Amino acid sequence: MGAEVTLVERDVIGGSANLWDCIPSKAMISTGGLMSLVRRASSMGLCDLDARLDLQVLRERIDRITGHLERSATELMASQGVRVVRGAGVFKSAQEVLVDTAEEGPVELEADAVLVATGSRPRTPDWAEADGERVLVTRQAYPPPQIPRHLVVIGSGVTGVEFVHMFRSLGSEVTLIVSRQQVLPQKDPEVAAALEADFLRRGVTLFKGARAVGIDRTDEGVVVRCSDGRMAEGSHALLAIGSVPNSDGLGLASAGVRVNEAGYIPVNQHCQTNVSHIYAAGDVSGKLPLASVGYAQGRKVAEHVMGLHTRAHRHLDYDKAASAIFTEPEIADVGLAEAEAFAEGRKLRVTKVPFAANARALIDGDARGFVKILSDPATGIVLGGSIVGKNAAELISVLALAVTAHLQVTDIVESLLVHPALAEALADAAE
Ligand SMILES: Cc1cc2nc3c(=O)[nH]c(=O)nc-3n(C[C@H](O)[C@H](O)[C@H](O)COP(=O)(O)OP(=O)(O)OC[C@H]3O[C@@H](n4cnc5c(N)ncnc54)[C@H](O)[C@@H]3O)c2cc1C
Repeated sequence: MGAEVTLVERDVIGGSANLWDCIPSKAMISTGGLMSLVRRASSMGLCDLDARLDLQVLRERIDRITGHLERSATELMASQGVRVVRGAGVFKSAQEVLVDTAEEGPVELEADAVLVATGSRPRTPDWAEADGERVLVTRQAYPPPQIPRHLVVIGSGVTGVEFVHMFRSLGSEVTLIVSRQQVLPQKDPEVAAALEADFLRRGVTLFKGARAVGIDRTDEGVVVRCSDGRMAEGSHALLAIGSVPNSDGLGLASAGVRVNEAGYIPVNQHCQTNVSHIYAAGDVSGKLPLASVGYAQGRKVAEHVMGLHTRAHRHLDYDKAASAIFTEPEIADVGLAEAEAFAEGRKLRVTKVPFAANARALIDGDARGFVKILSDPATGIVLGGSIVGKNAAELISVLALAVTAHLQVTDIVESLLVHPALAEALADAAE
């Protein structure tokens, strides 16, 4: 859009999503998924297949993918004429950012607008230390020097359950510490129950209603102590208890930027902080901690800085963000949550079909899960939905579009879809 732009980065261009979070975790899950497929292959008529994990090859593959993404992002900056300054940025005032660089020494930058997009890092509790050897945070597990014999995962949110799935697929015994009575406490209970059933079928041990309060190192590994006296023994423990924003050490006070108690930077619908020319986006803004949401916020900030924000309908609606959990079966949802709608006393039409009734799912040998669509009974407008099953993360795009564009269930029913296809389950659920 013609602006002069400087990017300040202390580490790798592309951020945590590329280097530590989404991409490496999904690359490992992809390998684990292939291993599960090989294990099931005999039921599809393929005999004598055997899958043995070569950790070195997996490690090289992850490095190749993340390296490629980093190079693409770096080249994109160069091709767009963006100045890249390598080092940690600190506000000196509301207009000035100081960067201590290795190459050029201190660099002072002045700008009309500043975007803070410094992300977040894994939360570590005061009762355990991540030593990177036996007690890990997510970033230390891509991939570990060896696949843990028995991994105790602490935390059953999105990250925790993805790691349970990942390491179980790669051959680890897994114990999951679930602080409530349901894994994925924020999700639809039916969705959580489907995942829980799959974990139990695959031999994952669940410690429900258990709060971890300490981790002891032993000669053989670790013992995770829970508040109710239960102990989970394993070779390794993984802390998946959320994240904290990278808002400390940025000099935000010098710029007059307000930070809330949890350390996030509150923003308005344009991602402006309380200082109007300083914006915040991504995890540090305390909205949805998803790479997809961070990208969308970044785009909105650029539009606002350049004065292109006048079309009201283009504000980001975080309630309509699609999200996925890359377990097996995959889980994805968008829009209104059923429990929330019923709690509000809202009238809702809920329709659900299992993939067991879908030809493509049967052909592919994986008919686990279901599609659930929530719509307004008066207007037929699609308000939300959940998908549990193969390719749920791709299929949810149809419902995301329907929710964003206020489509009706009949729009989905009357689409002439491919047969046999998993997407037909969406049309069936919309009937
Ligand atoms: C295990 C895991 C898996 C995930 N999987 C998914 C997924 O599948 N899909 C999805 O949408 N989301 C996923 N997420 C969430 C996603 O990774 C984050 O929402 C996303 O990375 C946030 O992007 P960001 O730009 O806010 O921050 P980041 O990607 O963390 O980028 C922040 C950048 O700022 C730099 N930085 C920080 N401070 C300074 C400073 N003072 N000066 C200069 N540079 C600085 C950092 O080096 C970093 O490069 C996952 C998260 C985890 C933990």
